[in-house]
Amino acid sequence: SPEPPPLLEVRDLVKRFGGFRALDGLSLDLRAGEVLGLVGPNGSGKTTCINTIGGLQRPDGGVVTYDGRRIPGLRPHRLSRLGINRTYQSPRPFASLTVRENVLVAATEGCGSTPPDLDTLLASLGLAGQAARPAGELNSAEQKTLDLARALATAPRLLLVDELAAGLNPTELLRMAERLRALADRGMAILVVEHLMGFIERVTDRVIVMNAGRAIFGGRLAEAVRDGDVKRVFLGG
Ligand code: ADP
Repeated sequence: SPEPPPLLEVRDLVKRFGGFRALDGLSLDLRAGEVLGLVGPNGSGKTTCINTIGGLQRPDGGVVTYDGRRIPGLRPHRLSRLGINRTYQSPRPFASLTVRENVLVAATEGCGSTPPDLDTLLASLGLAGQAARPAGELNSAEQKTLDLARALATAPRLLLVDELAAGLNPTELLRMAERLRALADRGMAILVVEHLMGFIERVTDRVIVMNAGRAIFGGRLAEAVRDGDVKRVFLGG
């Protein structure tokens, strides 16, 4: 049977800061049920890609199509209602609100197509025991998990994940990897930016390797590590 069209299509995306092109013609596709990893050296434009797709930054060129609809210029809360949400490298929950209240606030911003049961969501992420604690008291791993809970509370179809693994111990990492895979297996499209290659290997179906704002490789990680251009970028060879 023919493949379904991509849920997310990015074509020739450009983002400038002054005269510098942080994104310089980036293209990628992402289908429902697929986890795509965005890897590349520091400064190659990974976070800018997430910020631009996620509505935090306006693109200067190119086209982003989600579910057949052009979305550039839409702000994060609008995108959230369309089913696009994200996690942050440095989560900033409402520190004085409880974990449950934080997730509740996030849920009201979602598309509401399949409103998740918040207590089931918290339990599934291992946060049930933390539900009544102020978010400001959580450790960094718990804050990362809460950030994921907040994104999932909006019932996204497309989840953008920026540097989730930093600050997690190996057990927590493994658990997060399993969570993302389970979400994808249920049909979510997930774009993951991550430095930790073990995490990328475990979680992704495909990777895009970025350098200087462009994709220099698209395919499986196992093939990427054998690719001459990729080796030159990572090893400077
Ligand atoms: P990565 O996530 O791959 O490390 P980034 O997307 O954070 O890369 O950054 C890509 C480039 O754009 C870097 O050179 C960075 O310094 C620059 N950059 C990112 N955000 C801004 C900004 N708000 N103003 C100016 N330059 C920026």
